Amino acid sequence: MKRIFFLIITFIMLIFQTLCVNAEPSKVMSLNFDDSSSLVFINVLESADAQTPQLKLSRLDNPNRIYFDLENSVLIGGKQQLVFEKSNIKEIRLSQFTTSPDVVRAVITFEEGFDTSKVKLMSVNGNIIVRAAPLPIKNDYFNTIYDEGAENLPYSSITANSQVVQRTPIGISTPEKAPNSVVQDIQKAFENSTLSNSDGKTYDSVISVDLSSALKLRTKYYINGIYLKNGGLLVNGLGQLTSAKMFYLDSPKRLVMDLPNTFVDKNLRNKEISVCQDSSCKDTAKVGQFEYNKARVVITSDKAEKYIPIYSADAQSMLFINADKLRHTDLVSSVANLNKAFVRKIDGKTNELILSFTNPVVHSILRNDNSLNLYLFNVKSYNEQDLIKTLNNTYYKPFTMSLLPQIGVRASMELNKADIVRIEQSVDGKAVKITVTQGVKEKTPEKAAVKRSPSKGKVVLDAGHGGSDYGAIREGINEKDITLDVTQRVASILKSKGYKVALTRTDDTYVSLQDRVEFSENEGPEVFVSIHVNSAEATEPKGIETHYYHDYSNELAKVVHSHLIKEIDTKDRGLFKSKFYVINHTTVPAILVEMGFISNAQERAELVSESRKQKTAKAIAEGIIEYCKSQSK
Ligand SMILES: [Zn+2]
Repeated sequence: MKRIFFLIITFIMLIFQTLCVNAEPSKVMSLNFDDSSSLVFINVLESADAQTPQLKLSRLDNPNRIYFDLENSVLIGGKQQLVFEKSNIKEIRLSQFTTSPDVVRAVITFEEGFDTSKVKLMSVNGNIIVRAAPLPIKNDYFNTIYDEGAENLPYSSITANSQVVQRTPIGISTPEKAPNSVVQDIQKAFENSTLSNSDGKTYDSVISVDLSSALKLRTKYYINGIYLKNGGLLVNGLGQLTSAKMFYLDSPKRLVMDLPNTFVDKNLRNKEISVCQDSSCKDTAKVGQFEYNKARVVITSDKAEKYIPIYSADAQSMLFINADKLRHTDLVSSVANLNKAFVRKIDGKTNELILSFTNPVVHSILRNDNSLNLYLFNVKSYNEQDLIKTLNNTYYKPFTMSLLPQIGVRASMELNKADIVRIEQSVDGKAVKITVTQGVKEKTPEKAAVKRSPSKGKVVLDAGHGGSDYGAIREGINEKDITLDVTQRVASILKSKGYKVALTRTDDTYVSLQDRVEFSENEGPEVFVSIHVNSAEATEPKGIETHYYHDYSNELAKVVHSHLIKEIDTKDRGLFKSKFYVINHTTVPAILVEMGFISNAQERAELVSESRKQKTAKAIAEGIIEYCKSQSK
C-alpha cells in the first residue's frame, strides 16, 4: 500500500513537472543581421525544453512589410529595433506583442517595391533566420577577422557600430572570382572530417549541426560545430568569424582566445574535448559562451604557447593546432602567390596594407607585445623588389616577408604593445588587409614617476561615443546625442565661472578612445571627465554611477557623484573602480559618469528632457568646481 502511494505521488510529480516544462516559454534572446542585409537572425535559445515556435509569415502594404509571431515566447532584453541606411531592409523590430499568451512579434519593413514574396523563413536549431534575398557572392569587400580594438569597445558599441551597414571597397580592381576548384579545396581542408580520436572512439561532445552552406551570416558568428581535425581543434560556424588577441593563463597552463560578437550553440558549450593524437599528451579544448555576446576558446596544454590559430580562407572556421604537429599540406593544396601590395594612409595614426594573392590564402595571425607575424601557409613566392618598392617611404617600411621551407611565407613587422591591429580578409579569400592604428606608447617608469603639473582651472570634457559609434540605442534615442548635449552644457557652465574647457569632440564625429586620451594628455588639464549614458539588457535598472580607476581620481569621483545624487532624483548606484580605457590611460584625475539608463523607459524619457540634462550638467560642473577649489587650498 505504502509503495502504491509512493508511486502515485511520483506519478503526480512527474505530470506536474511535465506541465511546468511545457509552460516554459521560449526565450527570444537577440536580433542580429547580416551586413549584406539579406539575412536577419533571431536567436531563440536557452530554454532547454522550449519548442521551436510555429512560424507564419504575413505580408502587408503601406509600408511594405512582413511580420511573424513567435508563440509561447518571451523577449529578453526588451524591444529591439534596427534601422538600416542603405539596404532593401529599412527596419527590423522585435517586440513582446502580448503577454498572455506570450507572443513575440517580428516586423521587417522593406523598401517600397521590394518583392516580399521572395522572403523566406527558416528555423535552425530553434533559431530563426529570415532570408530576404539570394545571397550575392561579392568579392569587393572585406570582413574583419581579427580585431584588437574590439576588445576596448563595450558591448553596446559593438552593436551600434554594426548597425550602420557599411562595406569597405577593396580599392583595387575587383578580383575575378576564385576558380571553384580552389575554393572547394580550401573548404574541404576545413570541412568536418574525423569526428573520432586516434583511439577510434567517437566523442559525444562533438556535435555537428547540418546547415545549408548558403547560410553565411556576415556579422554575427554562430558556432555550430567543434571537431577534431588534423590533430587540432576545428571551430566551425555560420557568419562572420571575428577573433581577438590571444592570451595565456597559468595553472593549468592554457591559451585563451575570445571571439567577439559570437554565439555558441548551446549543445556545444563547455564540452571538454581531447585534441591529442597520441596517448602521452593530455591537451584539451573547450568552447564556451563567455559573455552574452562573446565566445571563448580555451586550450589547456603544457605547451599552450605552441598552439596557433589558423583561419580558413572563407572566414567560416578556425583551426587551433600545435604548430609542431602541423603539416601544412593538410590545409590546402593550392598555391597562392603574392600578386601585389598596396599601402594607404588613413590618417596620422592609421595605415593599411593590402596584400593581394593569386588564390585564396590560408593563414595564421600571431601577435605578441612587440610584433605581428602572419604565416601564409599556401604562399610560395612573392616579388621582393616590388614589395620593397611599394613599402618604401610608408608606415609599412619595416614590414618584411620571408620564405620558410615546408611552411610557406612569414610576413612580420615590429609593433608596440599599444598599437591596435585589425586584420580583414576579402570575401573571396584572396586579399588580406592589415590595419595598424598607432597606440599611445606605454610610459617609461621614470616618466610615470614624474607627476605632470596640470594646468590649474583647465578641464577636459569627453562626450562619449559619436559619429559611427552610437553608444547605446533605445527607441531611436542615441547615447551619443545625449552625451554631447550634456557635455556642452557642462562646458558652458564652467566657462561662465572662468574655467578653461577643452572638448574631445564638439560635434557628431567619431573619435577613437586613443585620440581622446592623447588629446587630454596634450591639453594637460586639472581634471578629465567623460560623460556617458548607461544601458542594460533588462529594462528595470536605473540610476547614476560614477567610475574612476586610479586612486588619485577617487576624490574627484566622490565629489562629482555626491553633487549628481543631491541634484537628481534617481537611484544612487555608487562609485565604481573600473578599467575604462579613457580613465585608465589619462594621467590626471579622471572619471567617467554614467548619468542614467537609456534602457529604462522612465529614465530614458527624463534623460532627453531639458530639465534632467540641465540638472546633470549643473551637478557635474559644480562637482568639478568644488574639487578644483579643494585642490588649490
Ligand atoms: Zn557609453
